[in-house]
Amino acid sequence: MNNESTHLSLLNAMVWSGTQESPIKRNVFIEDGIFADEPSTKAIKIDASGLTLIPGLIEAHAHLCFNAGTDWRAVYDNDTPSRMLLRMVENGQKMLRAGITTVRDLGAPTELAVTLRDAIETGVTRGPSLLVAGAPVTPTGGHCYFMGGEADGELGVRVAVRERVKAGTDWIKVMASGGNMTPGTNVERAQYSVDEMRAIVDEAHRLGTSVTAHAHGVEGIRHALAGGVDMLEHCSFQTPNGSEPVAEVISDIVTKKTIVSPTIVGALGGQQNTERYARRASLTKQLVESGARILMSTDCGIPNTPHEDLSYALEVMQHMSELSALETLRLATSTSAKLLDLNDRGCIETGYRADLLALHTDPTKDLSALRDIKYVISAGNLVSR
Ligand SMILES: [Zn+2]
Repeated sequence: MNNESTHLSLLNAMVWSGTQESPIKRNVFIEDGIFADEPSTKAIKIDASGLTLIPGLIEAHAHLCFNAGTDWRAVYDNDTPSRMLLRMVENGQKMLRAGITTVRDLGAPTELAVTLRDAIETGVTRGPSLLVAGAPVTPTGGHCYFMGGEADGELGVRVAVRERVKAGTDWIKVMASGGNMTPGTNVERAQYSVDEMRAIVDEAHRLGTSVTAHAHGVEGIRHALAGGVDMLEHCSFQTPNGSEPVAEVISDIVTKKTIVSPTIVGALGGQQNTERYARRASLTKQLVESGARILMSTDCGIPNTPHEDLSYALEVMQHMSELSALETLRLATSTSAKLLDLNDRGCIETGYRADLLALHTDPTKDLSALRDIKYVISAGNLVSR
């Protein structure tokens, strides 16, 4: 990145602010990493005619410490902390080059995640702006226990929340059900009692932080909802045969205004003729139609889900949800910023963080425009590609 480029004037672009119904022709000014009303006298002028500018993309569920390969666990186990941190830096940079300017990491060793977030923030290294959960709170032997986040009982989980807040994490992630990636756990069953979930949420809210719950099977989803979590990851209603949405639980999600982060795994795009895909698509459509609050996420880093695939996952999301390209794009920009409580970004408007993508064609008409990025700007800095 080049600090001289933090004063930029992008002239004659078609600009989609993140909230409008369609792009409009205008100039965009950037001063000290923020969108400005007027051009700075120091600004470098870029002729952006013929380009469409949109806000930088936001990925709400990533694992920078995983390698996206089928050998992920052996690689994870063989990494020393230093080597894992280097892997996380590299994966973050891949995401930034793909136009993902904000990433919420929902599972990595706590110290590494916090260290990387702060190193990017202070310019020690380059990468997307990070929100981190550190090690997910999970019972002994529970899903992703190997990240170092085991905690049991109401007192144990309260201590776990306090430890994360002390370490400086941005979100609390709790594993409410078993996970497909951890043998010996059961995705269809809850991992924590309702009382334990309540204790986690109560302690987190008392300390001013929010809780998101990994939940696949309906029992885990129910316990998380009863505990009062702010957000559900996956929310896949997973059964041995696929996804089986339960209407009464969906209505509870809507009533409680619980946010759903659906982890539209890019790899599902290659499975559009399978029953698994059809069930997941129908669930996604039901969630959207019921009025549930949804943002965009992929769970990148897990096998067959490369870190840079958010734009591809957006195309899959559009196909599944039957939303328009523009509505789908909102999920990964202005909507995700709002639902993640990031009031300084997600829009190309004066005063917002200057994160944007310049594209050759208009993604609000056709999301495949995201496959061909002309350039990425992150906090006013031109990202080298
Ligand atoms: Zn995950």
